[in-house]
Amino acid sequence: RWIRDLGKVFLRDKNGNPIRMNGVHIDITESKNLELEIKKLSITDGLTGLLNRRYFEKYFNKIMFESKRDKKDVSFLMIDIDFFKEYNDTYGHQMGDDALIKISNSLKSLLHRNDDYCFRLGGEEFGIIFKINKKEEAISFANKIKNEIENLKIEHKKSKISNYLTISLGLYCNKPKEIKNLDYIYKEADSLLYKAKEKGRNTL
Ligand code: GH3
Ligand code: MG
Ligand code: MG
Repeated sequence: RWIRDLGKVFLRDKNGNPIRMNGVHIDITESKNLELEIKKLSITDGLTGLLNRRYFEKYFNKIMFESKRDKKDVSFLMIDIDFFKEYNDTYGHQMGDDALIKISNSLKSLLHRNDDYCFRLGGEEFGIIFKINKKEEAISFANKIKNEIENLKIEHKKSKISNYLTISLGLYCNKPKEIKNLDYIYKEADSLLYKAKEKGRNTL
């Protein structure tokens, strides 16, 4: 429970001498819970429960600061579901939403370090930003995610490349001093993602 301390009051006798001191507290659990709920709503995406794009902007600054301090590189992984319009057209928007939830849960479960978060950047696009020592680490992490999503075996009869829903990934890694701003890292990862789509999808 959340308790707010309002200080001390003295009970006095008729001459004004203190005879007893009481601490005064009020229970603010309900308003605190409401405050936490509102905060959570403002930073998460309603459908998937992932953090939203607005919060990603704040988190980007935190990662930039920490990677400079810890002398690490920054990795930004941009993920986009393949042929998702076709999926909605084939199975309906509700099934589309369900698939987004399944994929989001899978992404969440693949993040192990407690300061790793996945963001829903837009419709069927997700982002993960994290600090690394070597690019190889990020590549193997990205490949693991790619395989894990295909292994969910969410049927997609109309996909041109698999029987199941798949993702394409853009992985950008660099030293923090080379990363000018959020816009820059977005554009770099987005163009790598575009290349993965051109290569045939379900790839980095
Ligand atoms: P590509 O392989 O090139 O990425 O093709 P795509 O069809 O996945 O890409 P496109 O950008 O043409 O379509 C994205 C689709 O994602 C269209 C839109 O209806 C769907 N979508 C976006 N947000 C949501 C959502 O919240 N729920 C559902 N069900 N569908 C969504
Ligand atoms: Mg897209
Ligand atoms: Mg897509």
